[in-house]
Amino acid sequence: MGFSKLKIPRVCEHCSKPFEAKTVTTRFCSASCANKARKERKKLEKIQKQTEGLLLKYSNKIAETQTREFISVSEATVMFGISKDTIHRMLKRGIISGENLGVRLTRVRRSDLEALFTGIKMPAEEKKTKPIFEIGECYTISDICAKFYADPATVNNAIKRHKVPTKKVGSFVYAPKNLIDKIFDGL
Ligand SMILES: [Zn+2]
Repeated sequence: MGFSKLKIPRVCEHCSKPFEAKTVTTRFCSASCANKARKERKKLEKIQKQTEGLLLKYSNKIAETQTREFISVSEATVMFGISKDTIHRMLKRGIISGENLGVRLTRVRRSDLEALFTGIKMPAEEKKTKPIFEIGECYTISDICAKFYADPATVNNAIKRHKVPTKKVGSFVYAPKNLIDKIFDGL
């Protein structure tokens, strides 16, 4: 690359000021700008390292959570993608066991949640029955949310997980009441 006796018009990468460069690889108008730019890059590198460190710390935390028998309600919402309300409801109904160590200090048994999320299978005969999509026999997603105090993400996850047949009409998604009741009554 090169040295050229011609001055090359450039714009400083640091201060955006136009200047005449001596070589095509000159990036800054002055030593001061080059210096400042180097400092900025170092700072960015430091921030990136810190971010990576945080991520590493976070992944350790996730790994740690996965091996712990009792987890907090917040941790359960993250791990299992269910709402706090759902967890508290399941605790209340004794579907999962937990300990109340004080206000906002509820701990739930991780294995109970895992069992819930892996152990449910729809009976084989259920698959043979044709889903009923008649009005009055169906819920919309918001119906389900309202009835079972669940958030839409929880409802959609449950529908997916249990392979509940749905029908989309306009912007509404309908799911058969009988299948939804079976899933959510259990919770
Ligand atoms: Zn400059």
